[in-house]
Amino acid sequence: MSEVQYKSACLCGAVQLEITGEPAAMACCHCDSCRRWFGAPIHGGCLYSIDKVRIVKGEDRIGTFKYTEDSESHRKYCTSCSGRVMVDHPSINMTDIPAVSIQGLTFVPTLHSHYAERVLRIFDGLPKYKDFDPDVGGTGELLEE
Ligand SMILES: [Zn+2]
Ligand SMILES: [Zn+2]
Repeated sequence: MSEVQYKSACLCGAVQLEITGEPAAMACCHCDSCRRWFGAPIHGGCLYSIDKVRIVKGEDRIGTFKYTEDSESHRKYCTSCSGRVMVDHPSINMTDIPAVSIQGLTFVPTLHSHYAERVLRIFDGLPKYKDFDPDVGGTGELLEE
């Protein structure tokens, strides 16, 4: 069976991605870095294995920002419109694509990460991890909504 294909683009369309299959995980991140970089109270992220994502247009228009030199989050954006493209996590071979930029995807998060840093409380009954999921190296400690 062939997997579903999604397309994603920055605001101006200079950078375009083709994405194969459903996300490995969908989550809401409340961390201070995501909030400030995305300029939003919560980041809705879709985690994909890096090999499922192909840059089909505008590779030369992609800029990379790392908050610290040894940061595990390589934040990629369009140098024309500043639109956020994805956040690579090379140490786990995954990339995080903003759900809002994936055309036709239904965003169904299963958890909240870095809830200790939240500025907006969410009452949706999903697990609220203090940092993140133990499956991807977090403490797994849960917080009240
Ligand atoms: Zn752009
Ligand atoms: Zn974050």
